[in-house]
Amino acid sequence: MSVLISASFPKSRTEFFSRPGDLTSPLWQHAQKCINHGPSLSAPNEHLEIGLCTKITPLFEVPVEELEGKTIGLYFGANCYANCEKFTPLLAKAYQNLKEQGAKFEVVFVSCDENQSSFQQFHRTMPWAAVPFADLLLKKRLNRSFSVEAIPSLIILSPAGELLHSDGGVDLIYRHGSRAFPFTPSRIRELISEEKAKHDSQTLEKLLAINGRDYVIDHGKQVRISNLAGKTIGLYFSAQWCPPSVKFTHRLASIYTSLREKHDLFEIVFVSADKDESGYSECYGEMPWIALPYNVEYTKLLSRYFDIRGIPALIIIGPDGKTVTSEGRNLINLHMEMAYPFTEEQLKLVQAKEDEDAKGYPRSLHHAGHSHALRLVSTNSGGGPYICCECEEQGLGWAYQCLPCGYEIHRKCVKEGG
Ligand SMILES: [Zn+2]
Ligand SMILES: [Zn+2]
Repeated sequence: MSVLISASFPKSRTEFFSRPGDLTSPLWQHAQKCINHGPSLSAPNEHLEIGLCTKITPLFEVPVEELEGKTIGLYFGANCYANCEKFTPLLAKAYQNLKEQGAKFEVVFVSCDENQSSFQQFHRTMPWAAVPFADLLLKKRLNRSFSVEAIPSLIILSPAGELLHSDGGVDLIYRHGSRAFPFTPSRIRELISEEKAKHDSQTLEKLLAINGRDYVIDHGKQVRISNLAGKTIGLYFSAQWCPPSVKFTHRLASIYTSLREKHDLFEIVFVSADKDESGYSECYGEMPWIALPYNVEYTKLLSRYFDIRGIPALIIIGPDGKTVTSEGRNLINLHMEMAYPFTEEQLKLVQAKEDEDAKGYPRSLHHAGHSHALRLVSTNSGGGPYICCECEEQGLGWAYQCLPCGYEIHRKCVKEGG
């Protein structure tokens, strides 16, 4: 599919808003350039315009050619959508990096907001231009042209106007940031093989040593990273500001304590996503395991390396230093201690045991938290991945369900009665 930029942006009077008050923004510089050149009013239909949100500044026109010859990201999003709010700063960081490198890249925000004020509020957090909120026709056309079904969505167009990524733009920014530029198939292949080589040669030292530091922290004491060799390690990404993390920490701590009584080759390392050192100290104070020293940039690096999209997350590293699974959190929720050492063989054993045990489970029961009888289901009999309505954690396998209500809970979360 080939979409020309001039076709994406019809020759209509389109206002662009730049970030208010941000004099370093490329759009502002761009606007200034236009002042110097004098806005061309002779053919208004051939131009895009920049309008600064400060209102006191008049509109400046930006020739359409300014977008031509560049790789364009059309960013479909809306204010107050947690996933958009999470994605915008990442895209902004990549955008800023690319601008500093002089890359020919531009982003245009296509708002899916319900009203102007919500649009403006969200757009203020972005360093790039936007299709004006009032231009419903253009927004509709863009939505339709690129079949946008969910937000955030980042549609990437090549400088020639070809569609490079119809729905993978968000994923590419999450995984590679500005390194994904220019988003071409050959660049993506390069990044994937680079990533594979990194994971293939992964060792615990490479993962945990920051700038040559060869130790981690055990509540004030230093522990050499080499002392962890040969152990199964859980890298625990968590933060004090995140309620699900705080909740999961308590569950993990009790499982860790009982696992450690049986297996001294198991260890957990806290990787802090806290906003500051005091949050880190408070968070780590609740944990019985070891930790990386506080370093937010390094946490970001590791999060990107393991493609972590949300916390809490528990990445399991095997005794050989290679990743066993990124699903440590779900496995702990599902199988608790039985998940250890998180290998496929262990999970098969656990599954077989659960299937055997399930023969003795009641087919239906009453649970104190729901007014209808709940029916026993498994993945093969109407179950499947679910979010437990009792503890709000993910579930899979044997569960109790009320199908008409869409109510499903872990077996362990059943409270008899009701
Ligand atoms: Zn539950
Ligand atoms: Zn029900």
